[in-house]
Amino acid sequence: MNNFSYARASDVASAVQAVAADRDTVFIAGGTNLIDLMKENVSRPARLIDINGLPLNRIEEREDGGLRLGALVTNADTAYHVQVERRYPLVSRAILAGASAQLRNMATNGGNLMQRTRCYYFYDTATPCNKREPGTGCSAIDGFNRIHAILGTSEQCIAVHPSDMCVALVALEAVVNVTGKGGDRTIPIADFHRLPGDTPQIDNNLGADEIITSIDLPAKGFADHYAYLKVRDRTSYAFALVSVAAALEMDGDTITETRLALGGIGHKPWRNLDAEAMLNGIKATKDHFEAVGETIVRDAKGYGHNTFKIELAKRAVVRALQHAARTARKP
Ligand SMILES: Cc1cc2nc3c(=O)[nH]c(=O)nc-3n(C[C@H](O)[C@H](O)[C@H](O)COP(=O)(O)OP(=O)(O)OC[C@H]3O[C@@H](n4cnc5c(N)ncnc54)[C@H](O)[C@@H]3O)c2cc1C
Ligand code: SF4
Repeated sequence: MNNFSYARASDVASAVQAVAADRDTVFIAGGTNLIDLMKENVSRPARLIDINGLPLNRIEEREDGGLRLGALVTNADTAYHVQVERRYPLVSRAILAGASAQLRNMATNGGNLMQRTRCYYFYDTATPCNKREPGTGCSAIDGFNRIHAILGTSEQCIAVHPSDMCVALVALEAVVNVTGKGGDRTIPIADFHRLPGDTPQIDNNLGADEIITSIDLPAKGFADHYAYLKVRDRTSYAFALVSVAAALEMDGDTITETRLALGGIGHKPWRNLDAEAMLNGIKATKDHFEAVGETIVRDAKGYGHNTFKIELAKRAVVRALQHAARTARKP
């Protein structure tokens, strides 16, 4: 592990100033991903700015009826917050499907968005990896690629984004609030993460001098009909092979609005608006759900070890939608 210096930021402006001034300076929040990356020599920052003292640790009501999740609120405090559980149970379920209780106590909401892929080769500095070292090649494409992407891949990288929380946030159309040297801006969560293309080393659209301050959940939480289904190799403490966040608005057994996002299949949480539109105004039946699953994987490509994900994603979509159609808010 390389030597590094450590400083605590006292306010958002000085934290932004510190990362803007030096590209080897990075923020540390819960440290659950960054410290692993440093121990494995994947990340070698010269300076850590500890942001845990910044006033970004609250969950607040918004005037538009939504909820603002501070970037430094832990995943555990978010999942168990009474308003998140009541109004956004999809977010709560997705977070609780991830990691372990101990990790969720440390992991922050901002860090969850920024966590890096779990591709084995990315963590193994003895192997080529375009994400870790651009231009060296991708060991996964012809290697062991069981956990890798089937949609939105490129010849440069087939990694997936590993977050559970982000899948639910994409389904709910959350908005990420960021601050940088140029001031404040908002990024719809669907535009936050990127596809690998020719620049797989860039995971997301956060600027080098920017910090995530909070995440806004819109007023509509789909609390009556939702499901977060995570299919994984173990029943806990494992990343998703495929996950599905499903949210429905229903009038009797007719679907009036659909939100669907998938994890474990792309470099970013995957949403297909055409597939969602197929369900609007029709009855919640297995046949219709299967057609939606087919549409989502229509352009999917398997790389050998991960080809099973194509069928798995279809089935997971059907199961999540069936579950969402049945759920109804408890009094
Ligand atoms: C064994 C294990 C199993 C896991 N399983 C799952 C799982 O099943 N599902 C899942 O979703 N996650 C899982 N995780 C990942 C975990 O959720 C993330 O590590 C965690 O959310 C990262 O948050 P953190 O605060 O610890 O980030 P850190 O490790 O502190 O930081 C991670 C990155 O985010 C940056 N960063 C942090 N906060 C900000 C901010 N406010 N603005 C800008 N940049 C910021 C840091 O600079 C760093 O680059 C697992 C982790 C481990 C170690
Ligand atoms: S899939 Fe991406 S992260 Fe994994 S080895 Fe290839 S380039 Fe690296």
